[in-house]
Amino acid sequence: MIAGEEVHLSPGAALRYAGLPQPELVAADAQSRMIPAALEAALAADPTRPTLVLLQAGDIHSGDSDPFAELIPIAHRYGAWVHVDGAIGLWQAASPSLRHLVAGVELADSWTTDAHKTLNAPYDCGLIIVRDERAHRAAMAMHGPHIDDFNDGLGQPFDFVPEMSRRARGVPVWAVLRSLGRRGVAELVDQMALRARELAVRIAALPGAVTCTRIAIRASLARCPSTCGADLPAQGTRDVLGSAARAVMPGVGAHVAPMAYARD
Ligand SMILES: *Cc1c(COP(=O)(O)O)cnc(C)c1O
Repeated sequence: MIAGEEVHLSPGAALRYAGLPQPELVAADAQSRMIPAALEAALAADPTRPTLVLLQAGDIHSGDSDPFAELIPIAHRYGAWVHVDGAIGLWQAASPSLRHLVAGVELADSWTTDAHKTLNAPYDCGLIIVRDERAHRAAMAMHGPHIDDFNDGLGQPFDFVPEMSRRARGVPVWAVLRSLGRRGVAELVDQMALRARELAVRIAALPGAVTCTRIAIRASLARCPSTCGADLPAQGTRDVLGSAARAVMPGVGAHVAPMAYARD
């Protein structure tokens, strides 16, 4: 697996479960976006190995997304499978005004996203979407005498997921999508992005704080160089940012959950 250096922790954990090596990291820019020339160099170094290129829609720190339209054709030229971790950011594709932030994401081979984040569906409603049904089925389906009897020709849910026994997580997701509708989802996403930008503006107005990332759907919005110098312990930085976020909360409406953390 090749991933950008800001990759989320969960893909590395998934590789560990399977006993596979950790992702090979390639350089990202200040907005946590993978640099196309760096991807090309990593692929060219060993062009025949089977490779999964992991990209991100909505980086956990910057909120920004990889330049899919540039990166995905490079990966495909080397025969790599491209997966997009779109836990939060993939939902920007549902908004006509934010869609440009994930331009080209549709070129990937598979995508994951979370209904339990943006859509507020109950835990744990993760979604995976795979372009090639045959590849999906070949990877996940199980066969054996005691289950082939269930086969009615339509396929079984467990042909597409790791678990054989699972509750009907699709029902709450369906209910949320059915009640919001296409326009409701777009409005929800637009509101999230608007609140993130408002929060950034208000935090930047606090003494000593500067916003340090371009604001997309979510963001680690600010750092406080004057109040939280490098010599301040992480907990101190966290406290300052946490109280700043709480201070601006009433002004930006009810749908913001401040999460403050320290990072170099
Ligand atoms: C939350 C998140 C994950 C992990 O998803 P879970 O549904 O909590 O397992 C992975 N990647 C990103 C970018 C996330 O925000």
